[in-house]
Amino acid sequence: MFDYILVGAGLFNATLARCIKNKNQNAKILVIEKRNFLAGNIYTENIDSIDVHKYGAHIFHTNDKEVWDFVNEISEFNRFTNSPIAYYKGEVYNLPFNMNTFSKMWNIFKIDDAKKIIEEQRKEIVEKPQNLEEQAISLVGRDIYEKLIKGYTEKQWGRPCKELPSFIINRLPVRYTYDNNYFNDRYQGIPIDGYTNMIKKMFDGCEIVLNTDYLKVKNKYSANCIVYTGCIDEYFDYKLGRLEYRSLKFEIEKLNIKDYQGNAVVNYTEAEIPYTRIIEHKHFNFVDVDTTIITREYPLSFREGLEPFYPINDDKNQKLYEEYKNLSKNENVIFGGRLGQYKYYDMDKVILSAFDLVKRIV
Ligand code: UDP
Repeated sequence: MFDYILVGAGLFNATLARCIKNKNQNAKILVIEKRNFLAGNIYTENIDSIDVHKYGAHIFHTNDKEVWDFVNEISEFNRFTNSPIAYYKGEVYNLPFNMNTFSKMWNIFKIDDAKKIIEEQRKEIVEKPQNLEEQAISLVGRDIYEKLIKGYTEKQWGRPCKELPSFIINRLPVRYTYDNNYFNDRYQGIPIDGYTNMIKKMFDGCEIVLNTDYLKVKNKYSANCIVYTGCIDEYFDYKLGRLEYRSLKFEIEKLNIKDYQGNAVVNYTEAEIPYTRIIEHKHFNFVDVDTTIITREYPLSFREGLEPFYPINDDKNQKLYEEYKNLSKNENVIFGGRLGQYKYYDMDKVILSAFDLVKRIV
């Protein structure tokens, strides 16, 4: 008999484990993980001194001091600042959308000139934006939408921007300063020993079972409290239907050159190139070695055997999720994290939601 069974060894349960142990060192915690490693999709593997983000770029950023202090107590963070660039048919632009982007796009220098152009272009949207396309044009105008948003977003989500919820694009800042920092948050960085080591520390003192699908062994274990961070529809054996997810394929390559692209993240925003971005891992940790490792990221529809990376929070899926959520109220299990709550969480928000849960269960 355990005090807690935590299903899934990602950031949500790692935060729970750490907080539970901080409050009660003797708590008996069992962690059951389907895959053969800890850390979920923030898993990093050190190859040739480079921490490779095996499941895509993870840059930690938050505005919340409590969250920042929490992670820094576990791991030292570097000063990485995400400043991706976008490649569109031979042209290169800074992201997020800022004066560097606008100046390159329209050959202008002054803030007012950028504002004037965007004001003019956004006039095409007169009503309240109803989808991602309208939202994007009303934020930055048609030129930027066509070159830097449309192709990328339609590759990423596998459907037209007109059929996507507008909130997705609100993740991206728009600013009228020459500031290429992708995130608005006060704190930002990457653990200097990699995310995997950080997560391992967070699970210190827990019993860990890898390579095990909890749903197949659940009768074998019992606990006062069970937290499940897998897909909520899978937990209920899809009895109300399947939620949709977006998946990714990663193509990793080691190159015998010192630097491939001079930046950690390059987005490929045209529809004709099948991948959305190339990340060059050594730039996340400022590693000085003679070789480099890059990953091309290809979005894919989710099907069995692939990893679900993103929930698709459109109306249809959201409604189905709400029905599963209702079902979960009769279950003696708590659902957490991106998959358990079908929510496009950033890492800091995952930690905050785990903090909330700790208040209720410990
Ligand atoms: N996006 C875009 N062009 C870009 C980068 C992002 O249009 O070059 C849009 C796209 O719709 C994407 C969303 O912004 O789905 C969120 O991007 P973010 O980089 O935050 O996504 P994540 O890192 O979570 O995959």
